[in-house]
Amino acid sequence: MKAVVFEKHGGVDVLDYRDVPIPFPKEKEVVIRVEAASINHLDIWVRQGLPGPSIPLPHISGCDGIGEIVEIGKQVTALSKDQRVFIFPGLSCGQCESCRTGWDSLCPSYRIIGYQTQGTYAEYIAIPEENAIAVPESLSGKEIGSIPLVFLTAYHMLFTRAKTRVGETVLVMAAGSGVGSAAIQLAKAAGTRVIAAAGSPVKLELAKKLGADLTIDYVREDLKEGVRAFTDGNGADVIIEHTGGENFTKCLHALGRNGRLVTCGSTSAPEVSMNVRLLFVKHGNILGSYMGARWEFLEVLKLFSRGLLKPVVDRTFPLKEAREAQTYIESRKNVGKILLIP
Ligand code: ZN
Repeated sequence: MKAVVFEKHGGVDVLDYRDVPIPFPKEKEVVIRVEAASINHLDIWVRQGLPGPSIPLPHISGCDGIGEIVEIGKQVTALSKDQRVFIFPGLSCGQCESCRTGWDSLCPSYRIIGYQTQGTYAEYIAIPEENAIAVPESLSGKEIGSIPLVFLTAYHMLFTRAKTRVGETVLVMAAGSGVGSAAIQLAKAAGTRVIAAAGSPVKLELAKKLGADLTIDYVREDLKEGVRAFTDGNGADVIIEHTGGENFTKCLHALGRNGRLVTCGSTSAPEVSMNVRLLFVKHGNILGSYMGARWEFLEVLKLFSRGLLKPVVDRTFPLKEAREAQTYIESRKNVGKILLIP
């Protein structure tokens, strides 16, 4: 089969489109013919070589996507060939206390497909049966391959970590990104007011189409003033943040009393500076968030089935153009998700 492989960390030129063996399913695994693989920012960090867990080399990136089951392991009972499934990114042991109580992303041996294992930038992938989640009949098209990681992340941030309630005001940073465009839709579906912030007019236009009540260009406008004016001086109740650097500091200024700032990433810079007075005076909360639980993804799918959410895909690239696709994301041109089509 064809796959995009890299043997050492580096720039996009380390990505090589080549032939590799088709994976064979272990007893509790299924092999999926990948229809669309989603690109996530994590793929770029993995390729560059981020500090943290070591990754298997040679490596195939890609955390999620969609495809059809073509082969099943001997002990697989709940799935069958030809079934269309989501490739769910989180791998967990299934046995520990976290897994048994439904919090698989807190499993001590939690891993992500395409990060700590081989991923979806390939024609076929073998995954545990628990990670193949049947696509509801109401959902069609390749675009839904963009759903799993970003909607799972945004759902977990908004509802599990920040405990967002109806009527609150939610500020979504990097509104044109995958997590951003998912968070806007989820926050609107939950009956909140949404302020969407991004660095370009075309991204803010998308945010408006997705239902944002106010948009702020955080490069050209004052984020704090914009948020305060919209909230009668209070600031945002919830902030969905994943850019880091200076933006994180700006967010602390835009946070309201008892506000919850949730971060799931640092696309611009991991180091931030903060004045703790901004936090204690306002009873502020800073929360970390990493992926989410399987049941949360099933909740997301219910909302899709009811027509409350839609995938936001900027464009697709053929799998062999993975270099071009990652370059496009690194240049921050994308408005919504990018898919690779094998
Ligand atoms: Zn576990």
